[in-house]
Amino acid sequence: MDAVVKPLRKAQLSDHVRRAAPATARPSREEAEAAVRTLLAFTGDDPEREGLLGTPKRVVDAYEELYGGYRECPAEVLDRTFSEIAAFDDFVLVRDIAFNSQCEHHMMPFMGKAHIAYKPVERVVGLSKLARLVDVYARRLQTQERLTAQIATAIDEILNPRGVAVLLEAEHMCMSLRGVEKLGASTITTQFIGSFRDDAAEQVRFMTLVHKG
Ligand SMILES: [Zn+2]
Repeated sequence: MDAVVKPLRKAQLSDHVRRAAPATARPSREEAEAAVRTLLAFTGDDPEREGLLGTPKRVVDAYEELYGGYRECPAEVLDRTFSEIAAFDDFVLVRDIAFNSQCEHHMMPFMGKAHIAYKPVERVVGLSKLARLVDVYARRLQTQERLTAQIATAIDEILNPRGVAVLLEAEHMCMSLRGVEKLGASTITTQFIGSFRDDAAEQVRFMTLVHKG
């Protein structure tokens, strides 16, 4: 596995795959910090008290990290692929990829694990790249359904494999800490493309491996 080759891409990549999120009119850091001070005051606390003076800066720093995915391009993450997979003709499964994302309805975290399988045709991608791809999409405001679908679509369009399977299991803080307050409930979403959609046995084997010990 040493030859680095350009992947055989599908003719038309989806917008969310081929480029970072389109630049919107982004407020300045100062404006963002002022908005945090407003929210601090809204809690009922005093934004000017000593313990809170550095908070707006720290919150905006955290936002840069938690929402850094908007400025990354999925197609670039999966750009380097390797041929020479010899007679390998089964799927590759990467299990238990920890992720955290932010629910777009409440701006509260949801976190859990992603399990990704794809059945390569001639080309494979470095395993850590799948984890990075998850982060590119997870570090945005998301729904778990869309996050699942975007990861699967990106792998399908860039690697052009025989099939892709993505399963996400996550706990949503907006459900655990507020609203119905159901601590520990998990949400599972799946997306199957190609061979995983068409071949029930392959799908079952994926599910079994994902949930094995
Ligand atoms: Zn929510």
